[in-house]
Amino acid sequence: MTTTERVKPRMPDEVGVPDPFSYMHPVMKKNYGNWDWHDRPRPGVLHHVSKSGDEIWTVRAGTQRQMDVFTIRKLCDIGDEYADGHVRFTTRSNIEFMVADEAKVAPLVEALTGAGFPVGGTGASVTMISHTQGWLHCDIPGTDASGVVKGLMDLLHEEFIQEKMPNRVRITTSCCQINCGGQGDIAVNVQYTKPPKINHDLVANVCERPAVVARCPVAAIRPAMVNGKPSLEIDEKKCVCCGACYPPCPPMQINSDESTKIAIWVGGKHSNARSKPTFHKLAVANLPNNAPHWPEVVEVVKTIVQAYKKDAKHWERMGEWIERIGWNRFFEMTGLAFTKHHIDTWTGARKTMNTSAHVHF
Ligand code: SF4
Ligand code: SF4
Repeated sequence: MTTTERVKPRMPDEVGVPDPFSYMHPVMKKNYGNWDWHDRPRPGVLHHVSKSGDEIWTVRAGTQRQMDVFTIRKLCDIGDEYADGHVRFTTRSNIEFMVADEAKVAPLVEALTGAGFPVGGTGASVTMISHTQGWLHCDIPGTDASGVVKGLMDLLHEEFIQEKMPNRVRITTSCCQINCGGQGDIAVNVQYTKPPKINHDLVANVCERPAVVARCPVAAIRPAMVNGKPSLEIDEKKCVCCGACYPPCPPMQINSDESTKIAIWVGGKHSNARSKPTFHKLAVANLPNNAPHWPEVVEVVKTIVQAYKKDAKHWERMGEWIERIGWNRFFEMTGLAFTKHHIDTWTGARKTMNTSAHVHF
């Protein structure tokens, strides 16, 4: 090794997004950026035609939320046998198989449905439900968001395999209100309803107090001496019960059965198609966090989906529909109650981007 090589600085080992071209179907690679038009011959199948005349069909199927190795092998075997080995996962845990021959579409659809994977999720359907996976890897979750999804998927299966909604319905579930799951036409989020209770005996031994203080988004935590020991105190008027202080300091006990509830929000949208992106807004709060099937949550989602399907105009997204009919009518049509939880008495909200359905004082 030469001296020059020895002093060469180590570069960051950046993994990032892998190069997609090495995995891409040859027809997609060849026609990259050169597509002319597309249509959907049936729910779950996309057909793209390039300016060169090349064609490709994409078959989309739903999968379970967290996949075991046997299921992944089964999907790969179907890909090898019916789609020349070309598959990709979407951000919503759908799997897509690409074929360049129309004759391969029907056998592929049959193989997928025969193996129990629903084909759908395209166009005006309830697409796969995205969910955060905090129960597995994050440090704030108050519930198993994937479990809530399972409860909902049984209810919404028919709406996934057909395109009979006014427009696409994106449902998200999140395991805390920090909500890294993003905005959704319907968003199911766990909510903590009470500020943390501090176990003062443990704080001094377990927590880095500056880290806990810095973690609070509304500056509600202060260092304090309690019973002669360094501890913390919370300004409960400021606390928004987000749970962010729990990970750096487990003695900030917030995750109790009694204080975790589920809230349902509606009308969020990431895309700027037809109308601008919107935040979702509170529809129902304080539903029980009732594992393993969350029947109360399923019932409310069913009510909202049915009201939207019945009344929204063609191509109206959930938020656009509510905007048109107004919030009064939304609550009338769904039969959901307008409760004290829709009244926001947290004065800090006036200065934030909070655009919820809350009544502000
Ligand atoms: S929603 Fe909250 S708890 Fe769940 S993964 Fe995201 S930040 Fe973590
Ligand atoms: S729950 Fe959130 S708002 Fe309340 S004290 Fe902890 S970090 Fe601050």
